[in-house]
Amino acid sequence: MLHDPRFRIPGLKGVCAAVLPPEAGGPDPGVLRIALEQYVAQFPVPSRHAARAGVMGLNAFSVATTGKTLLRHGPEEREQVLHRLTTRPEGRHALEGLKALVLLVAGGERYADELLARWQAVEPVRPDADLDVTPAAWWPSRSSCDVVVIGSCAGGAVAARTLARAGLDVVILEEGRRFTVDEIRTTRPVQRFADLYRDAGTTVALGTPPIALPIGRGVGGTTLVNSGTCYRTPEAVLLRWRDDAGLKLADPSAFAPYLDDAWDTLSVAPVPLDVMGCNGKLCLQGAERLGWACGPLDHNGAPCQGCCQSAIGCPVNAKYGVHLNALPQACAASARIVSEARVLRVTHEAGRATGVVARRLDGSTVVIQAPRVVVAAGAAETVTLLRRSGLGGHPQLGHNLAIHPAAGVMGRFDDPVVAWDGVLQSAGVDEFHESEGILVEATATPPGMGSIGLPGIGRDLVAQLDTADHVAGLGAMIGDEPAGRVYGSKRAIIRYELTARDGARVVRAVEVMGRILFAAGAREVYPGVPGHPVVRTVEELADALASANPKGLHLAAFHPTGTAGAGADEERYPVDPEGRLRGVDGVWVADACILPTCPEVNPQISIMALALAVADGMVTAG
Ligand SMILES: Cc1cc2nc3c(=O)[nH]c(=O)nc-3n(C[C@H](O)[C@H](O)[C@H](O)COP(=O)(O)OP(=O)(O)OC[C@H]3O[C@@H](n4cnc5c(N)ncnc54)[C@H](O)[C@@H]3O)c2cc1C
Repeated sequence: MLHDPRFRIPGLKGVCAAVLPPEAGGPDPGVLRIALEQYVAQFPVPSRHAARAGVMGLNAFSVATTGKTLLRHGPEEREQVLHRLTTRPEGRHALEGLKALVLLVAGGERYADELLARWQAVEPVRPDADLDVTPAAWWPSRSSCDVVVIGSCAGGAVAARTLARAGLDVVILEEGRRFTVDEIRTTRPVQRFADLYRDAGTTVALGTPPIALPIGRGVGGTTLVNSGTCYRTPEAVLLRWRDDAGLKLADPSAFAPYLDDAWDTLSVAPVPLDVMGCNGKLCLQGAERLGWACGPLDHNGAPCQGCCQSAIGCPVNAKYGVHLNALPQACAASARIVSEARVLRVTHEAGRATGVVARRLDGSTVVIQAPRVVVAAGAAETVTLLRRSGLGGHPQLGHNLAIHPAAGVMGRFDDPVVAWDGVLQSAGVDEFHESEGILVEATATPPGMGSIGLPGIGRDLVAQLDTADHVAGLGAMIGDEPAGRVYGSKRAIIRYELTARDGARVVRAVEVMGRILFAAGAREVYPGVPGHPVVRTVEELADALASANPKGLHLAAFHPTGTAGAGADEERYPVDPEGRLRGVDGVWVADACILPTCPEVNPQISIMALALAVADGMVTAG
């Protein structure tokens, strides 16, 4: 990508030099600045302004306290400025945000050439699928069909397949574009991150703490970038959905065939030990030594080559997202996909759906008439779309958001781990799942990109980066209460406030992960607790956590659900137990929105099974 001078960020070179001093062996700040500016240029305007303001604020602080901008200082003085800044909470937050940004790009770039060369030498394990995809630019401005499906991800793909197999003329509209394996394997990691995620991966749930909430966008949706871990919906969750929400189709015996179908569609199998990699093996070793239930995770990645890149698109087509199975199967049954078509609204007349209006990239519109519309645009976008369509009247639409918040902990080992050599998400510890709602999963990141969790700044951080191959990473998710909400109709604004109960569970999850790493032999552990960046014993970990405020931890989330819950109670649930949006005829919802609560496990299988059940109901109803 060419560097556009309009997106220059004054003072960024100094920030790069302060976070990763070149004098200590950090990357050339001039080169890193350009890579960062290219990435930030792809952010939506508010995030771009926030990054710019952070950089300018940091330099202004340097000038105010020392009379010089960061770049004019030597490495020691730059570090002193940053340390002074961290004594103020708002300064600490700004610095952490910028550090994460610098490390994401620096880490991604550090391994980019090696990564591209290594994986271009490996043949894809399967070719791209035969998809009937037409970019919206080439689709007629007016057309009609039996059913429009909005969104081509987990829910939309399988719903479209069932409907097409029933002989209906189905058109799937997808805002993102199609990515081929050739494009993925030849594009630099940071650019893949920017391309494959909505808003270049900057989606966030606002609150204390703010929680990164990335969402995929493309033909295949988030399954293009997810980690591939598969869990059947736990029976206790299904019983709650059946009995509390009145969702009859969630009855465990009625739901089992849909779970089986989703499982088979994705060809789910356990992660084999010979490709798992050291990161997962250390997790298993630590948990086994503690006597905790654990094992390889099930995933839809066979035959996985262990390249650890599923979060930025699999370069060998092993990760079996719906673009490689349910979507081509839908197309084989004559469904058609229109890409780069953002649906602006679902149209309706006299209380009945009549179709959709979508926008092409050039701003012109595409009108498709259809008596049935399935909305599967994801937990945030489905809500805003329904509001834009004048269908957002239900008072609970957008409420009830659960995100399955996740914390990460890293541990440093004497021997090399090379966490990025193996499966990205590989081994699970179930010991505390039923009892405390905590699910631990050994999770690495694409090479270099996990360095954002390393402690320190300046020279210490460069030293950490240089030995990042000795660091293992775990993540844990908390089955949470619905503590968030999606606002907005043009753009989704997501708010989420961790409840006290879930905050305590996050802290407990950090303890559990720290103990696993120590039991596996970690020399030191990075719990991510402000004031305690490094702990060296289980006792030090307990001390650090005794006073830890969950609102000060770095959290991320990957599983938003529940914003248009399906259930029997008309007042509580915007969607009825068969998946029909209340208040209009001819509109169904079939994505993460309709899960009545957090499924307490990685959700793609649950979403697919619910969408299959909804689509089956549509076919049966005729
Ligand atoms: C990094 C990451 C890792 C994950 N790992 C796992 C995992 O290991 N296992 C697991 O089970 N889950 C995982 N998940 C979550 C899982 O992938 C998602 O929960 C699931 O794919 C969501 O499916 P969905 O059908 O709700 O739609 P979404 O993924 O939200 O997709 C909706 C689609 O609709 C399109 N769209 C949105 N608005 C419009 C519009 N107006 N017009 C047209 N199209 C539109 C979007 O572009 C998108 O392609 C992960 C998620 C992330 C981000």
